[in-house]
Amino acid sequence: IIEIEALHTRFGQLVVHRDINLCVHYHEVLTLVGGSGSGKTTLLRQMLGLERPSKGNIRVFGASRCDCDFDLLRNIRNRSGVLFQQGALFSALSVFDNVALPLRELRTLDERMIRDLVMFKLDMVAIGSQHANKMPANLSGGMVKRVALARALALDPELLFLDEPTAGLDPELSEGFVKLILALRAEMNLTIVMVTHDLETLSALSNRIAVLADQQIVAIGNLQDIRHHQHPFINSFFKTV
Ligand code: ATP
Repeated sequence: IIEIEALHTRFGQLVVHRDINLCVHYHEVLTLVGGSGSGKTTLLRQMLGLERPSKGNIRVFGASRCDCDFDLLRNIRNRSGVLFQQGALFSALSVFDNVALPLRELRTLDERMIRDLVMFKLDMVAIGSQHANKMPANLSGGMVKRVALARALALDPELLFLDEPTAGLDPELSEGFVKLILALRAEMNLTIVMVTHDLETLSALSNRIAVLADQQIVAIGNLQDIRHHQHPFINSFFKTV
């Protein structure tokens, strides 16, 4: 579903990625791990089309990110959802309007249809209709995440990007949120690309894990493959978290 070839990223003197090659397969959960500043979020943003690599190519749904065709990019955005770190709801919009936003922007639907779709999505993430008119500031951390997930899923995407989905949640809420993602992944047939520092989240969700270190992908495989890989980052990751 995503193919990345010979990708290089540089910000001035800082080299972030050196010759990254990576494929994301249909219906898998691929997790990116790496130390702070290893370029995980940047890679996620590049897959989303929010940033350009310095060199190399990214194809999503078979179409190149480097083709600047607006319709093509719009098509990719129509088929992808994203959950940014911390949920990132628009604080001036109600729960309902946050979830309705992508529907209003990218679909031509009447208000009744939007209402039904938003309520359906809120129900999927176990947010009752009594919360629809609340503002984000009046929600708990766990609820913010679930509303943000409802918004990410509003367009019924094929591809979902999760940046630190369980950051800021206590272990119990985190476990519940991971279960919700697993259930929705099966129900909606999602392909997921995730960044996480959390070993529990990584173990529960990932089919494959790609380890970013030394500006490259130093290991890729399932949890068992990765665990036995000898690299200082991997050794400390499994020891300390
Ligand atoms: P963390 O786990 O701390 O979130 P990360 O692996 O996600 O880190 P990135 O956020 O991708 O890392 O950043 C990689 C490096 O690139 C960092 O050193 C960051 O300061 C730098 N960087 C990211 N975006 C830009 C930018 N737009 N301009 C300049 N430098 C940037």
